Amino acid sequence: MDNLEKLRNIGIIAHIDAGKTTTTERILFLAGKIHRMGNVDDGNTTTDYMTQERERGITIVSAAIAFDWKGYRVNLIDTPGHVDFTAEVERSLRVLDGVIMVVCGVAGVQPQTETVWRQAERYGVPRIISVNKMDRVGANLDNAVQTISEKLGANPAVIQVPIGAEADFRGVCDVISGKAYTWGEETDGTDMVESNIPEDLAETVELVRSNLIEIVAESNEEALGKYIENGTLTSDEIKMYLRRACVAGKLVPVVCASAFKYKGIQPLLSAITDYLPSPLDLPPVEGIHPKTKEVIKRNLNSSDPMSALIFKTVSDTFLGSMSYVRVYSGVLKAGSHVSNSTTGKKERIMRCLHLFADHREDVDQLEAGDIGGILGLKQSHTGNTLHDPSHPISLERMEFPEPVISQTIEPQTRGELDKVIKVLRSYAMEDPTFVIKNDEETGEIIISGMGELHLDIMVSRMKIEHKLDVRTGVPQVSYRETIGKEVTSRGRYIRQTGGKGQYGDVTLRIYPIPDGNLEFSSSVGGDKIPEQYLKDIELGVKDAMMSGKILGYPVVRLGVEVVDGSFHDVDSSSIAYRQAASIAIRDGFSKAEPVLLEPIMSLQVIVPEEYLGDVMAGLNKRRCKVQSMELQGNSQVISALAPLSEMFGYATDLRSATQGRGTHSMEFKKLEVTPPDVRDKVVLAIRGIPWQQ
Ligand code: GDP
Repeated sequence: MDNLEKLRNIGIIAHIDAGKTTTTERILFLAGKIHRMGNVDDGNTTTDYMTQERERGITIVSAAIAFDWKGYRVNLIDTPGHVDFTAEVERSLRVLDGVIMVVCGVAGVQPQTETVWRQAERYGVPRIISVNKMDRVGANLDNAVQTISEKLGANPAVIQVPIGAEADFRGVCDVISGKAYTWGEETDGTDMVESNIPEDLAETVELVRSNLIEIVAESNEEALGKYIENGTLTSDEIKMYLRRACVAGKLVPVVCASAFKYKGIQPLLSAITDYLPSPLDLPPVEGIHPKTKEVIKRNLNSSDPMSALIFKTVSDTFLGSMSYVRVYSGVLKAGSHVSNSTTGKKERIMRCLHLFADHREDVDQLEAGDIGGILGLKQSHTGNTLHDPSHPISLERMEFPEPVISQTIEPQTRGELDKVIKVLRSYAMEDPTFVIKNDEETGEIIISGMGELHLDIMVSRMKIEHKLDVRTGVPQVSYRETIGKEVTSRGRYIRQTGGKGQYGDVTLRIYPIPDGNLEFSSSVGGDKIPEQYLKDIELGVKDAMMSGKILGYPVVRLGVEVVDGSFHDVDSSSIAYRQAASIAIRDGFSKAEPVLLEPIMSLQVIVPEEYLGDVMAGLNKRRCKVQSMELQGNSQVISALAPLSEMFGYATDLRSATQGRGTHSMEFKKLEVTPPDVRDKVVLAIRGIPWQQ
């Protein structure tokens, strides 16, 4: 790809059933067909074509597919189908530069659409919207557009007028070019006809066009200047400024289609290339230095040092293990050596591939902005960064939120235990917020994640992808422990019984910090404790933090300063200081007013007005704190902070309280001190005795 300007890295997101799969299929079919039409002489017979079609059925589900459209290269990247807050969603939003949001022409914006929309917004990913299912009874572009502004708070810029409605939906008018595009009744999309705007729609088209010109003019100073000067904007100007506004996230171009009937797909493809950004339109990518943690920026071009993110690892029947990468800067060459910022190891790139719907192509290199497959990696995983060995950078953050919920899991048949563990490990490798552990005491396997839904998804993936049936235990909240006040605590580990002894002596000031896990520092001189032992003291602190004092939950938000100590010329050792530090923390912890912290989720509930009273009462009972309420159409959107421990089974309760019409979504927000009465219950349930320090 020598012209980055003509590259688009995009993904499709949608509420389930809105038509994401169908739209993807149609795009690949039509882009492939056009691409291939130039090659009729190469002997593409119908049967050839059908075999390719069948193959495509398989590749459609792969992580990224490239296709060409009118001189542009488009990489279509698969986005996770669910909306829980996971590393996977975050990663896919990072890899793509623009998004097509498919919404249903009948239902308009649906609740889950909102959640995904907010995520895309948070990552500043430019978006266009395709209002799909225009052929269905009740489909209405104006209504759908209204939900876009009301529910998403977005500024829709409608660029089409539908021709015919519902079963009679025949095509679209492009209000910018002033052309109409129509398809026959029984079409596979290839019979598109371009013509002038039908007379009966001329007035509507004019109205939509002047609306469009106004909002485009308002989106940009320069455009406004031109508009005021000339009283209008030319078609080229509308396109140019709409593109800028879309890239800046100020306006969202809206088109309409019936993916199922193959209508409106080519104009959608043009909207992708016209309005979604090329890598050159985007700011430099930010990463951190894997050692110093300093923030590093790389320009998205081929002259900066190479950096690439592995966003998916798959095993391919023919190729073995293949990694999908996005190259952000520099050039990734086949045959070259690169470093992995997570493992610190070097890897050799054996082959670089471009992956199309129906074939793959070996290429010498993948350049900045490019997406492709690489072969030959031995110890690299999804989420790892590959970089030029002399210019280290880590593109994915190295610290992820700790899981907040866990449950036991076991196979239905004992013989499948190894397979279950293997699959779970592979999931954990890809998603750092999903953790698998073996409980040493009970021998059970425990999975932990970011919410009930997150764990449910992993369990159903095992069933779908590997036909593994498992039993799961009741989900448990992962509490944390911390301290309420500052104390100073001394720990000594001294053994002097003949021969070489052990001598560690350290005094620590321990104090609560507002955030994070551990803040470690030292103010003692080398005359009291030789500097080399400070890292052992830090390790000892971490040992003690792993198994908290109250109930054995991990300790967080702890500040530790080494303030005093002593050493022995002969007997002092790493082990002795590590032990001494652990002792100091454990003793100090009980004097420092230990506190139990619980995960608080940010909750969004959307319910029709008439159920508001019941739903609010339910939230009160679950200790939820309502933050805001907003009327959208005839639904109330409630935002609240919800203690995770109270939210089990909420989906079922909400359904029965609203006759199935309420929806909710939830993600981890923060840790908060557990109120005393709740804390006492938790402690009683686990220890069998009430709270005591
Ligand atoms: P996804 O869940 O978003 O991937 O949605 P699918 O593409 O699987 O579509 C869900 C259902 O809607 C399927 O039964 C499709 O055949 C149907 N569908 C998709 N697009 C259209 C459309 O444009 N018109 C109509 N009438 N049905 C559609």
